[in-house]
Amino acid sequence: MGVNERILEKIEGWQQEEGSLPEVVEFYRDLLRAQVEAVAYIPTPQPDATKAEIVAQIRQGVPVLKWNALPFDWSIFQNLFQKVAAIINEHTDSPSDNLKAAAGDIAFLKEVTKAWYENSSLSPLAEQQSIDEELLESAIHYALKPFLAAHAEALIGLVPQEQWRLRYCPICGGKPDFACLDTEKGARWLLCSRCDTEWLFQRLECPYCGNKDGEKLHYFSDDEGLYRLYVCQRCKSYLKAIDLRQTESEILPPLERVMTADMDRQGQEKGYRMGWVGTASDDKR
Ligand SMILES: [Zn+2]
Ligand SMILES: [Zn+2]
Repeated sequence: MGVNERILEKIEGWQQEEGSLPEVVEFYRDLLRAQVEAVAYIPTPQPDATKAEIVAQIRQGVPVLKWNALPFDWSIFQNLFQKVAAIINEHTDSPSDNLKAAAGDIAFLKEVTKAWYENSSLSPLAEQQSIDEELLESAIHYALKPFLAAHAEALIGLVPQEQWRLRYCPICGGKPDFACLDTEKGARWLLCSRCDTEWLFQRLECPYCGNKDGEKLHYFSDDEGLYRLYVCQRCKSYLKAIDLRQTESEILPPLERVMTADMDRQGQEKGYRMGWVGTASDDKR
């Protein structure tokens, strides 16, 4: 069973126990169901590069998965995008009529998805269709995730983790939005906001601005020492993390990022911003 299926099982278990779920979890569950359904139609990706080519790319700091090498069936993507727009409409207050309309325009979807993947600004395209830029970004993020995750799963075994250790994902180039300290040595693994890849990273470096000055890097823990909120004084970003040495339970990192909304609130109350959204001023990428 894949990680997403296990997450759905857990959520369904809670629902039976509790009778109902918080709105944010329901929203996530519906998105995840639509994503898992779409995965069934995505053929298992076959890496088109050899291990040696991938290692060479990694050595140069180039993420493995290029947009042009990401072959996928646009009708499956479009179908999922339409479902995502409907789920957003059901669970949020965002005005999503124009988003639904845009889902019918495959040429627009291709253009805007490529721009998103390559970290280009979406604002001209969003404006053109009168869609809120953030809303458009989220919809693409949710609809593209299963495609990226399928490729990531096929490729990650070929990535030499010790040789990467950069601030962006070795597979898709995305930014991290969560981290795990492993059970072995407490090494820090970042979780990609876009494709759920986990990659090894220094504990004493901000993954958003590259700050390595220990005086400007701190973390707050909860009472059990299970969760950590890493903050950077330089770029004013925070990163949520879980210390896997402190628990015996099965931890599913993509679920943790959703279930730790309280830490987002804390981070923002303390004056920090979600590091993976937008661009840090001195982001070199
Ligand atoms: Zn990624
Ligand atoms: Zn920073």
